[in-house]
Amino acid sequence: MVLPRHMAHIRFLMSKDYNKIASIEKAISEKYGEETIQNPKSDWTEEKEKDYLEQIKEMYEKSYRHEESVEKIDINGIKVSKKLLNREPLKKCPVCGMIPRKSMDDICLLKFDCCNKCYVQYVEDREERWLKGWRPDET
Ligand SMILES: [Zn+2]
Repeated sequence: MVLPRHMAHIRFLMSKDYNKIASIEKAISEKYGEETIQNPKSDWTEEKEKDYLEQIKEMYEKSYRHEESVEKIDINGIKVSKKLLNREPLKKCPVCGMIPRKSMDDICLLKFDCCNKCYVQYVEDREERWLKGWRPDET
């Protein structure tokens, strides 16, 4: 794949859907050429990266936009509907005010109404307390 971190991101988005991953890999290799795939650093620019990321987003949205499936994907034990992952970015984290940047932030916002950082800090292993409405004191 073009850049390993991007591939990890795609795999994360697609969960275990390897057919879709393969078709996206194919589409990208057609667009950027095999050489880019085999030797990503040789001819890679910020512009291409931006274009590439948009491409991924577009393909991802196309893949799931019309899907009726409510199949859940499991990320670190958090089950989230695939449909939920395919939507507009969420508002800021109501706990710390951070704008979600990573997919994990989105997932935590959907599931626990806080970003991933807050999830790790306040919710993880104490989910019951959180779900009952406990929140960290404002400081
Ligand atoms: Zn937060």
